[in-house]
Amino acid sequence: MTPTLDRPTGPYRRVLVKITGESFCKPGGFGIDADELTSIAGELAGATRAGAQLAVVVGGGNLIRGAELARAGAIRQATADQMGMLGTVINALALRERLAALGTPTEVMSAAPVRGVVDPFDRTRGLALLDRGTVLVLAGGTGHPFFTTDTTAALRAAELECQVLLKATKVDGVYSADPRKDPKATRFDRLTFADALAKGLKVMDATAFALCQERGVPILVFEFSKPGNIRRAAAGEPIGTLVHP
Ligand code: UDP
Repeated sequence: MTPTLDRPTGPYRRVLVKITGESFCKPGGFGIDADELTSIAGELAGATRAGAQLAVVVGGGNLIRGAELARAGAIRQATADQMGMLGTVINALALRERLAALGTPTEVMSAAPVRGVVDPFDRTRGLALLDRGTVLVLAGGTGHPFFTTDTTAALRAAELECQVLLKATKVDGVYSADPRKDPKATRFDRLTFADALAKGLKVMDATAFALCQERGVPILVFEFSKPGNIRRAAAGEPIGTLVHP
């Protein structure tokens, strides 16, 4: 499948949504908050009703960030990152539970599988599940330390032939400067990868960005906290900033 180079006129066929771990807890909080969890599940279920196949990469920053833990001393980063990856498994299990409660068929696969708890990532099986309309929740990051779940999202979007990577963030797109600090900052509606690089704009971490650019996977940066936004993004509505080849 060729990735869409522009905004589609209807819903995307298949999207990858990156959900940061922070959205599982209250702002500035820790762990899993039942209301926040129910809200994310509701938003994702709404997006499936828009008609798009949904792969979801979950982060784990609400539980453990490997680099931070390593900086505190005592635990080397390779181990701290493994702990971080297991955190994403915990979030994925919680999300599956709520999606199932909403009647949305969901499967979890992990690059860091836990026998009897979560199956390993399998691309062929994943593609078949997506084609059947099952929401595919991807945990365990890349399975390797020193990477992020943003990079995982880029990797899985390319592998699973998603037409777009939906990057849910705190702000409603990519700005010319930090909108919280600079009142003159303006939001871009669209940007090419080359423009984003030339202007030094941070869209995702460098590895994730490079992978999307190389594989031609457009990134839609949009505001997570606005109800209905994942559905709007999956439906191809003109929200946020589209970074495209
Ligand atoms: N992680 C990792 N390899 C990966 C993805 C994640 O080691 O491929 C670890 C890393 O310690 C990271 C943690 O898992 O800090 C949680 O992921 P991330 O920080 O990307 O979560 P988010 O910021 O999206 O909540």
